[in-house]
Amino acid sequence: MIATERTNWAGNVTYHAASLARPSSVSEVRELVASTPRLTALGSTHSFNEIADTDAVQVTLAGLPPVLEIDTARRVVLVAAGMTHAQVASGLEARGWALANLASLPHISTAGAVATGTHGSGVRNPSLAQAVVGLDVVRASGDVVHVAGDRPDAELDAHRVALGALGIVTAVELAIEPTFQVATTVHLDLPWDAVESQFDAVMSDAYSVSMFTSFDDRGARQVWTKHRVDEPAPTIDLVALGARTATGPVHPGENDPAGVTEQGGVPGPWSERLPHFRSSFTPSTGAEIQAEYLLPAASAVPALRALRPLAGLFAPILIAAEVRTIAPDTAWLAPSSERQSVGVHFTFRRDVEAVAAAVERIEDVLAPFDPRPHWGKVSAATPERLHEAYPHLARFAALARELDPAGRFRNPFLERVLA
Ligand SMILES: Cc1cc2nc3c(=O)[nH]c(=O)nc-3n(C[C@H](O)[C@H](O)[C@H](O)COP(=O)(O)OP(=O)(O)OC[C@H]3O[C@@H](n4cnc5c(N)ncnc54)[C@H](O)[C@@H]3O)c2cc1C
Repeated sequence: MIATERTNWAGNVTYHAASLARPSSVSEVRELVASTPRLTALGSTHSFNEIADTDAVQVTLAGLPPVLEIDTARRVVLVAAGMTHAQVASGLEARGWALANLASLPHISTAGAVATGTHGSGVRNPSLAQAVVGLDVVRASGDVVHVAGDRPDAELDAHRVALGALGIVTAVELAIEPTFQVATTVHLDLPWDAVESQFDAVMSDAYSVSMFTSFDDRGARQVWTKHRVDEPAPTIDLVALGARTATGPVHPGENDPAGVTEQGGVPGPWSERLPHFRSSFTPSTGAEIQAEYLLPAASAVPALRALRPLAGLFAPILIAAEVRTIAPDTAWLAPSSERQSVGVHFTFRRDVEAVAAAVERIEDVLAPFDPRPHWGKVSAATPERLHEAYPHLARFAALARELDPAGRFRNPFLERVLA
């Protein structure tokens, strides 16, 4: 057990856990669960809120041996839940296989990303949780259960995005496909009129597209077009729409681009193009705070228009806002559950009070668009608001009570959200 004061990656949450357990095998996880009244799984600490905190015991799976077993016939890979996407992606790529999508940072743990409905971008790409075809979960009793799509479907859909509430996930089976190449091209300063009139066309012009903005007069100050080279080439001429082609690498926050994945239209493996940041680049603590809302895709343009008057409020604290698209998920609690979505994401400087004030304003402005806050990021949403945003939340809370009647996996975050 480790008992030092620790924080999340961004440094904005100090964990209250009395100790951090680091089992080295699934049997040790089972013994730990059976003998500990309250415990919470901790992934790679990349969430920006208290979702992975507890006043009892945190448990990391980073000490379990890595596993990466490919079943080529089923097109499935079995991975140890604590492995990062970078580890999984490099192992798959080396064997000629791929995941359909990745988040912007590859250093995030597989189970942690799945537990919060983490996503990348792409009109045909659902969240990373949708790639889960099965998982092993240690229940409150200490028993291990394999939940898969061949059991009643709802069971897997409840477990895909489970916020740590249904047990400790020790292994995940993910759908894979043959490796593919991606080429990233960046354009600068796409004017607002083009963003508004061509939004759907631009976002669906390639496998994965992201727009970055400060909501100021520059419009979309960067458009990252990630083209899968085995698909037809993008057809939208962003230069004709008023943008400029970037002549060198750019960072989404207009910082030093040393850590960004290769741009300039150079094809490379999916694992080194779909994340915005290189797996070989090691970010230490973040000194940033993120908030993100997923809205119905049809609300993208009016929502962006509604946020533009906040540019002055954002100016001192916003590093970058990113706009992405996400295809519908079947997971009950995915922010993109059952609807084609647009994600509006904010990376702020780590100024806790100023960010809290900005988040309240953002949530007021986005309220008419039925926003769903990202589970791993900061939000001012009340439990009542979360129940409105997530229609399956009450059903999920009932399942959590049924599977964990003594509240072994409850932490203060879940007490509030599942109340
Ligand atoms: C720089 C940065 C970039 C990001 N980019 C994106 C992005 O592109 N897209 C996006 O959607 N999000 C993004 N995020 C958010 C991030 O993906 C989520 O916060 C994610 O949950 C973090 O995973 P983690 O492993 O750090 O989990 P933690 O923050 O440690 O935990 C999150 C949740 O997962 C649960 N959990 C972890 N491991 C297990 C387990 N083994 N069994 C059961 N439950 C478990 C925890 O109990 C908790 O509920 C980003 C975050 C950062 C810091």
